Amino acid sequence: MKRINLPKRLFFDGAMGTELQRRGLPAGSPPEILNLQNPSLVEEVHRDYIKAGAMVIETNTFGGNRIRLRRAGLEDKIEEINRKGVEIAKKASEGKVFIAGSIGPLGELLAPFGDITEEEAEEVFSEQIKILVEAGVDFILIETMIYLQEALIALKSAKKYNTLVGVTMSFEWIRNHGRTPFGDDIETSIKRLQEEGADFVGANCGKGIEDMIKIAEIIRKITDLPVLIQPNAGIPKWENGKLVYPATPNDFKIFVEKMLNLGIDFIGGCCGTTPTHIGVFKEFCPKL
Ligand SMILES: [Zn+2]
Repeated sequence: MKRINLPKRLFFDGAMGTELQRRGLPAGSPPEILNLQNPSLVEEVHRDYIKAGAMVIETNTFGGNRIRLRRAGLEDKIEEINRKGVEIAKKASEGKVFIAGSIGPLGELLAPFGDITEEEAEEVFSEQIKILVEAGVDFILIETMIYLQEALIALKSAKKYNTLVGVTMSFEWIRNHGRTPFGDDIETSIKRLQEEGADFVGANCGKGIEDMIKIAEIIRKITDLPVLIQPNAGIPKWENGKLVYPATPNDFKIFVEKMLNLGIDFIGGCCGTTPTHIGVFKEFCPKL
């Protein structure tokens, strides 16, 4: 695969999973199944993000690894689901934006916390990454990692395919400290990912915009690599049978301004962000 050079600043898209739910995907149903069952809905979300100003869209393949698909009874569809995910993104992109191949966590715990060995984990990540790379993504984005060891195995898997690869971890801000739920601190996580050859690093998801500002500040100080920050739109609440995320597009706009002032290279949104949130990027384009 030909390695690409990324521009100095990139605006990514917003959430895929929660956006598909907002458009009718039942909660609990794996979003990846829509690559086969309703590809035009996935394409519509991509197109809405591109229209809003995203320069990178992420394939609808976050949960498309063998372990997660097996749980959903879709194991035999792994090739098709991932390949189609890239095809849909390419069709929506019309060659105008970058396509990131989304890779999420395994969905089961690595030993010693669970039963998955490092070898099995590498096999599972490699299988999905290979399909995405062969289908033509521009780079791989390993995201929402909450255990450094798992992130490093995913990174090692991606490096085998000579593709550009970014890794974002999900940190929680507790008692003036950012850590993953597995206890990996920000400094160690970012340093290790950099040492093992990540092309860019960062943080995504988490508890919302305010915590993410503190996390982004720390990451920016400890690495010269490009940094990607994708917060979710706060902690959701149930309202009339629907999950509602509190951060408004205006909150997101203030956040983007802070990120640009901090020197964050790549900015996008995670759970609960919509094309309306991503639309605020347009206001910053003249400054780029
Ligand atoms: Zn998220």
